[in-house]
Amino acid sequence: MIRIHFNQPFLTGKEAHYIYQAVYGEGKLSGNGKYTRLCHEFFEHTYNFRKCLLTSSCTDALEMAAILCDIKPGDEVIVPSYTFVSTANAFVLRGATIVFADSEKNTPNLDVTKLEGLITEKTKIIVPVHYAGMACDMDVIMALSVKYKLFVVEDAAQAIDSYYKGRPLGSIGHLATFSFHETKNIISGEGGLLVINDERLVKRAEIIWEKGTNRAAFYRGEVDKYSWVDVGSSFLPSEMVAAFLFAQLENIAPIQTKRIHIWKTYYSKLAILQDQGFFELPKIPKYATNNAHMFYLIFKSDTVRDVLIKFLREKGILTVFHYLSLHKSVYYKSKHDGRDLPMSDFYSDHLLRLPIFYALSDAQQREVIEAIFEFFRKD
Ligand SMILES: *Cc1c(COP(=O)(O)O)cnc(C)c1O
Repeated sequence: MIRIHFNQPFLTGKEAHYIYQAVYGEGKLSGNGKYTRLCHEFFEHTYNFRKCLLTSSCTDALEMAAILCDIKPGDEVIVPSYTFVSTANAFVLRGATIVFADSEKNTPNLDVTKLEGLITEKTKIIVPVHYAGMACDMDVIMALSVKYKLFVVEDAAQAIDSYYKGRPLGSIGHLATFSFHETKNIISGEGGLLVINDERLVKRAEIIWEKGTNRAAFYRGEVDKYSWVDVGSSFLPSEMVAAFLFAQLENIAPIQTKRIHIWKTYYSKLAILQDQGFFELPKIPKYATNNAHMFYLIFKSDTVRDVLIKFLREKGILTVFHYLSLHKSVYYKSKHDGRDLPMSDFYSDHLLRLPIFYALSDAQQREVIEAIFEFFRKD
């Protein structure tokens, strides 16, 4: 029986109150009401995002990004192979060919030193994924986007409240997407955010968000009637979801403080086992901050990792590996151009994630750490 779970959603206690306010106070249940506005304002003020639109998921936000960048069949989009399926799927839905990038040696983030070699006449977008909330080297990526006239869509699903050289992740690319899925630091069950930093895309983003209509402009009194003006879909969440999210955002500081405390405790206690060569701890690049989205270990051998998972599970502790390389997935492998991506495969086989969530107690964390020590002493 699992006693220490891998993740446990954290409730601040204010969620139900704000949902009640939205439903009985404001009387508005559909999207783009008071709580949606409060969330947008929070992000725009706190992180200097040019324009924010809540979505029903990060997947939805990525799909909006694909529409906004006018992806057509045959366009190429560069995506790391070591990522969640939606990072690629959103562009595949519009007919794009995915050109998978390999991960770098020090982190699972895409290897920017090999990026230019992947760019062709057909390339339209680069999608850096800030894995574990730690920044990709954005200066290199943005310089390439200028040189080759490409869009950059940051998949910042895991990267809330994290920075690159002092700049908030999500504020650097032309577009950026965040997730509030219950496994992320800030949650709303399912939920997401599209950030539009490129002024040229702001107006159209609002239209795509509201089913291809200019309803948002209509409500601001900018047009007399609203009508169908472009393609679009229903990407916006209801006010109940936004109300839930707002309660979480108000508590982002204590949530982050607690997660960072847990992360640092793992790091300091497990450093001895790293020194003894059993595994490696996460490396944080100089240009990146750590938002404690994830704590992972990297093993030299996949067998040791898998035996440890089993050992911990028998003690009631759930630990999990992560992505399987997308270029080898059932859906995409026959479409992949055949290049080997050894580092992506390496992380698929060697990375292990430990429990990290707000409610993880010191005693529970001690238990996880002691079990890992016991495993290696026995070995
Ligand atoms: C969680 C995640 C997503 C998907 O987010 P949803 O809100 O569940 O759609 C996309 N990309 C990455 C890197 C993620 O971690």
